[in-house]
Amino acid sequence: NGNIKFNDVYFAYDENRPILKGISFEVPAGKSVAIVGPSGAGKSTLSRLLFRFYDVQKGAITIDGHDLRDVTQKSLRAAIGMVPQDTVLFNDTLAYNIRYGRPDASQEEIEKAAELAQIGNFVRTVPDGFNAMVGERGLKLSGGEKQRVAIARTILKAPPILILDEATSALDTATEQEIQDSLDEVSKGRTTLVIAHRLSTVIKCDEIIVLRDGLIAERGRHAELMKLKDGLYAK
Ligand code: ADP
Ligand code: ADP
Repeated sequence: NGNIKFNDVYFAYDENRPILKGISFEVPAGKSVAIVGPSGAGKSTLSRLLFRFYDVQKGAITIDGHDLRDVTQKSLRAAIGMVPQDTVLFNDTLAYNIRYGRPDASQEEIEKAAELAQIGNFVRTVPDGFNAMVGERGLKLSGGEKQRVAIARTILKAPPILILDEATSALDTATEQEIQDSLDEVSKGRTTLVIAHRLSTVIKCDEIIVLRDGLIAERGRHAELMKLKDGLYAK
């Protein structure tokens, strides 16, 4: 389960300037679809619609056949995990930050998730009084380490649906590749919507959708899109 359908979705923050002008696509359960497009194309708006921060104004979004308008925000938060561009950590311990979303998780489960996200050492060696934020007695986590906290959190939560919203775009190239590998691992077998502004970061997705001017300008697998030299926003 976790099948997502956007069916002729129209959305405008301001009615004179529609952001999405009738967008249809499907993320089959367990598959990954990337949304690529220039800044301002409406990529993050798609994820806000999935969380019902806003409702679509025409058309519909369904998850496993249920119209999102009949699904509570609370159950959407339970079903969807998100790794954002910059993870903002709580001013609390590392374990608290990883456990967020699954407060019932045992220390063992936290350590296992941290291990898979490759921050196992941190979790074992940092005294629990130290908070994960920069500050007095705080850890100074790098951008990559913060993304690993977000990944550990997602592994622990194990949601059927995952949104990766430019999850590596704030990182340097070497770190980006490492985090990308972890993300590929976490998204395996999970319905995944990847938001990106460059095609080169979404090579492994089952389908790539290029948004432009509120519509789907191109769609296909990475190799197919690379053949279209013209009209593509980004390589
Ligand atoms: P992307 O993620 O592709 O960069 P966004 O979905 O964030 O694009 O934004 C799409 C457009 O909607 C942008 O022009 C942005 O300025 C506008 N926008 C985003 N959020 C709001 C808002 N809350 N109110 C009005 N306009 C908004
Ligand atoms: P913005 O770009 O303004 O942050 P987004 O659509 O990217 O807009 O915001 C998504 C928001 O969803 C985040 O700001 C956060 O508050 C919330 N969020 C992030 N992860 C989760 C999650 N796992 N479950 C529910 N809500 C989340």
